[in-house]
Order: sequence, then structure tokens, then C-alpha cells
Amino acid sequence: MLITRTIKDLKNKISKYKADGKQIGFIPTMGALHKGHLSLIECSKSNDDITVASIFVNPTQFNNKEDLKKYPREEEKDIELLKQVGCDIVFIPTVEEMYPEEDKRQFNFGGIENVMEGKFRDGHFNGVAQIVSKLFQYVEPDNAYFGIKDFQQVAIIRYLNKHYLADLNINIVACDILREEDGLAMSSRNKLLSPNYRNAAPLIQKTLKKYKKDYKNYSVKELMNKITEEINENELLNVEYVDIVDNTTLKTVDKIIEGQTTACIAVFAGKVRLIDNIAF
Ligand code: AMP
Repeated sequence: MLITRTIKDLKNKISKYKADGKQIGFIPTMGALHKGHLSLIECSKSNDDITVASIFVNPTQFNNKEDLKKYPREEEKDIELLKQVGCDIVFIPTVEEMYPEEDKRQFNFGGIENVMEGKFRDGHFNGVAQIVSKLFQYVEPDNAYFGIKDFQQVAIIRYLNKHYLADLNINIVACDILREEDGLAMSSRNKLLSPNYRNAAPLIQKTLKKYKKDYKNYSVKELMNKITEEINENELLNVEYVDIVDNTTLKTVDKIIEGQTTACIAVFAGKVRLIDNIAF
């Protein structure tokens, strides 16, 4: 596996593969890799000739300085894992490499940036768009892979790709959520959970599943309230929001339509913020 740390070196290596007509797959990550990330790498491995991953904890998408500071960083272990799954190139830039000067670009996503994560994490998706647009321009992949775990992020990336980066002709591939055996969605942040919070956290998915099964017995509002109440009954968990939204507009629905609606949630387990979702 080739390890690159500068944009120049990255472009140089990729251009050689492109000259040979190779199809490139790209997986952007913030590191502290787990099986969820590796499943995206494996997906690219089975679709593309060359798989490129990036590891970069992007400061501009953190609205909370403390969260950025405590975000897990495990570069050596990550490199080992990427080698094991057969990743071809990993790009690990510094903050100075990615932001030689302040990125003042402001993106507009037609309103989907103002709900759920966007509402509670001011500027988060603008930061995501800043980093992903840079990475897309440097890698110029044929396919880019993202996890549905970050449901709203996938919608933002699709919008960015279509409205701002259409000339790059990148195909966005959305991949399923990988979970621990007890149902907790895999996340780099799970590493920050102390054992009592880790034991409580599977209640998030368990509750979403329960009300997915029973949804016909309730209105959307009742469902959102029930899910919130049931999770908050556990004193270690604190729901920030539950929203049941249309898959395209991300607006709260009046009525659930199977195949077109998703329940999304953010929960604090102590100071650690976890997100998850379930499709109807
Ligand atoms: P992150 O390092 O958290 O920025 O995640 C990098 C990519 O991995 C994003 O596209 C995430 O949606 C995806 N990802 C994170 N957790 C999971 C998971 N449990 N299953 C599948 N994909 C995931």
C-alpha cells in the first residue's frame, strides 16, 4: 500500500493509474477505523481497479472544539487495517496541507442542511463540503463510497456532487450500516464510551426497530415521542432529536411510506454523541 501525505504525491501516484485506464474508488474517512469503514473499502475493492482511502480529522466540520480534541486518532493501527484489506493508496495529509489558508467557501444545499444534524451542529455540513470537495478534486475518483450510517451526509454529498462538482463525473455509492452484535452502529466514537455507556447504547437501535415494527399503530408525532421517551428512560442516554423524514427532502413526513421514509436519531451517551437511523 502506498502512503501519501502531500497532494502533489497523491495526484502523481493516481495519475499513473489513470494513464493505464484504471477505475478508481475513493473512501474518505476520519480514521480510528472499524469494520464499517473497512466494508466501504471492500465494496470499492470489488468494484474498482484501484482503491484510495483518506484519513483526515477535518477541523472545519467540528462545531465543538472539545469534540475535535478528543476525536480518536490511531494512525499506525489504521494503516495496518488498510493494508490487511488490500487498500492500494492511503492519503494522510496534515491540516496545513489541506488548508494552507482559511477556506471561506459557503455552500448551499437547498435547505437539506438546516434540519437534524445541520440544526444541532452549526456549520457541520459546510465543513464536510469543504473537505470532500477538495478531496474529490485531488483524487478525481470514478466511484466514491459513503455509509448510510451518516444518512443526511449522503444526501449532502449527492447534492454537492450534482450541483457543485458535476464536471468531475463522480458516482456516489451509499453503503449499508455495519453494526456490533448487539445492534449498536459501529462508530469511531464508540471507542470513547465507558463500559456503562457502551452497555446502554444498543437501546438506540433496539427502540428504533421496535417502533419500525409497530409504526402503523401510531401517528408520526406519537412515534417520535415514544422513541424519545423510551430511550430517555435510561438515565445514561439523552436524546437530542428524533426525526422521521422523507428520504429526498429530509422534511418531517405526515405519513410513513415504506421505501421513502427514514427515522433518524442523535443521542448523547454522557458526553459522546451517537447517531443512527432506520429505514421504513
Ligand atoms: P467517518 O470516519 O466517521 O467520517 O466515516 C467515514 C465513512 O465511513 C463515512 O462515509 C461513514 O458514513 C462511514 N461509516 C461510518 N460508520 C459506519 C458503519 N457503521 N457502517 C458503514 N459505514 C460507516
